[in-house]
Amino acid sequence: MKETFDFVVVGSGGGSLCAALALRAAGKSVLILEKAALVGGTTATSGGVMWIPNNRYMKEAGIPDSREQAIAYLDAVVGDRANMPGASRQRRLAFIDAAPKMIDFLVSQGIRLRRLPSWPDHYRLPGESVPGRGVVSELFDINRLGDWKTKLRPGFLPLPANLDEAMELPNFKRSWAAKRVLFRVIGRALADKITGRQRVTAGRALQAQMLHAALKAGTEIRLNSPVKQILVEDGRVTGVLTQKDGTDWQIGSRLGVLINAGGFAQNQRMRDQFVPGTSTAWSLVPDTDTGEMIEEGLRIGAAVAQMSERVAYQIALPPADRPKPATMQGDMSKPHAIVVDQSGVRYIRESGPTVDFCKGMLERNKTVPAVPSWLVIDSQYLNTYMLAGTMSGSKKPQAWFDSRFLRQADTLEALASECGMDAAKLQASVERFNGFVRKGRDEDFQRGETAYEVSAGDPLHRPSPCLGTLEQGPYFAMQIYPGDVSTFGGLVTDVQARVLRADGSAIPGLYAAGTSTASVMGPVEAGGGGSIGPTLTWAYLAAHHAIAAIA
Ligand SMILES: Cc1cc2nc3c(=O)[nH]c(=O)nc-3n(C[C@H](O)[C@H](O)[C@H](O)COP(=O)(O)OP(=O)(O)OC[C@H]3O[C@@H](n4cnc5c(N)ncnc54)[C@H](O)[C@@H]3O)c2cc1C
Repeated sequence: MKETFDFVVVGSGGGSLCAALALRAAGKSVLILEKAALVGGTTATSGGVMWIPNNRYMKEAGIPDSREQAIAYLDAVVGDRANMPGASRQRRLAFIDAAPKMIDFLVSQGIRLRRLPSWPDHYRLPGESVPGRGVVSELFDINRLGDWKTKLRPGFLPLPANLDEAMELPNFKRSWAAKRVLFRVIGRALADKITGRQRVTAGRALQAQMLHAALKAGTEIRLNSPVKQILVEDGRVTGVLTQKDGTDWQIGSRLGVLINAGGFAQNQRMRDQFVPGTSTAWSLVPDTDTGEMIEEGLRIGAAVAQMSERVAYQIALPPADRPKPATMQGDMSKPHAIVVDQSGVRYIRESGPTVDFCKGMLERNKTVPAVPSWLVIDSQYLNTYMLAGTMSGSKKPQAWFDSRFLRQADTLEALASECGMDAAKLQASVERFNGFVRKGRDEDFQRGETAYEVSAGDPLHRPSPCLGTLEQGPYFAMQIYPGDVSTFGGLVTDVQARVLRADGSAIPGLYAAGTSTASVMGPVEAGGGGSIGPTLTWAYLAAHHAIAAIA
């Protein structure tokens, strides 16, 4: 070995920095190896929401939750499934017990967090929390990172606005509350300009805060350092093979190696094998998410599971030199919008959890072409709501029309012809939906009947935030794909985040967390933050197991 550390972490996602903080707090040396030129992984580009049941911020705000309530909810939503060892009941319990402790630990390390107001759980089932269990980072001034500032992966929201504020901003023309939010955010941006601060938000703020704390605590982080192999001697993981200055470089680890190297959202070969019918082009995940550490785990005898699961998210692909998916769940939960298959038939609850929506699209596609499906809206929608990342109003980029990304027609019949749908079927779908709107209930798919859906709808629209007729031409249509923000299958791990072999035995010295693993959420995302909350929690547990193993 060229060097030896107490603990080596592969990848620089949220779990990596959390584990590093825990190990440094116990006085252990830690090295994080990141293959990219930027630190932070998909986590830095994300909303940064962590789903943390029974957390301290809920208690402070007097919001009821308990271990038992959280267990009831995960039992109801995830359930016991023999083919989903990552989501076993023991693992669900271990996660629920450790998650709030992990948050308390981060706070003890100076990480400033807050509750995400009004972010309901995704399912109306026993134990759900309607106020929600989301925890997010406070805004953070990245100038405090010094030289590391330029090495932090960019985020998705270039404003000093909290997520809940960002959700309100599009309503600024229609509501005084939203206007106040707009003024607050503008005030903040101006204050930053004057004081020279650069406050960032969401996943980038979370990663920036943890990076700042981890560096201060003495964590060593190396960029451009891909891990090629996990080194094993006599059945025990002893280190990794990476590269330094273009040459192979072996690094030993006394306590263990943590794989927190993301999933395989950008590996088309693995998609074709495990999530057939989906494309890397529909993913919002950075191109570093290529799954090689999952394959390396397989090579050394680890078990994998849940490989067809994803944090799926419906997207559209606006024309661009390098097309970037636009997320569409918020758009299609608003009134005056429905989704139909390629024949023109409405077949799904548009505002349901994104994972279920995308599974529904792929399932429908087995019998009727539905990938892509069509989002159909009328002029009421266009004039009121954001569409594929653009503000409300009829002015849309000319390229949208030229490339036929957005199709327009004065009547539904003409729109059907523009899109190659059956006009009678589209007409019937819209008439049936309009009938439900007038009755106040979607009898086919119960759209808008959960707190989660209401939160994604239009709070100013009466009587229902999610139901509104399609009756004012011109009408518009746009193609929708079953994209994703992560894969959710990978290495099988136990209640301590130890990587397991197919026979259930642990590979000594090897831990894994995050989207490199089979998720504790199984086939769903129980609530917003269902990826990052567990990732940090499992990495925290891995660190503690490694520390205790030699104590
Ligand atoms: C726009 C967007 C919004 C999202 N919002 C949320 C949200 O609010 N809440 C939530 O829970 N989830 C959210 N997600 C999903 C979530 O961001 C990801 O599931 C999660 O961040 C994955 O974290 P991770 O730690 O597994 O991996 P990552 O954060 O991706 O980190 C993995 C790192 O490992 C590195 N790596 C890979 N292979 C190697 C190797 N061989 N050697 C060295 N390094 C390697 C990668 O370069 C990467 O930097 C969102 C995703 C997107 C795209």
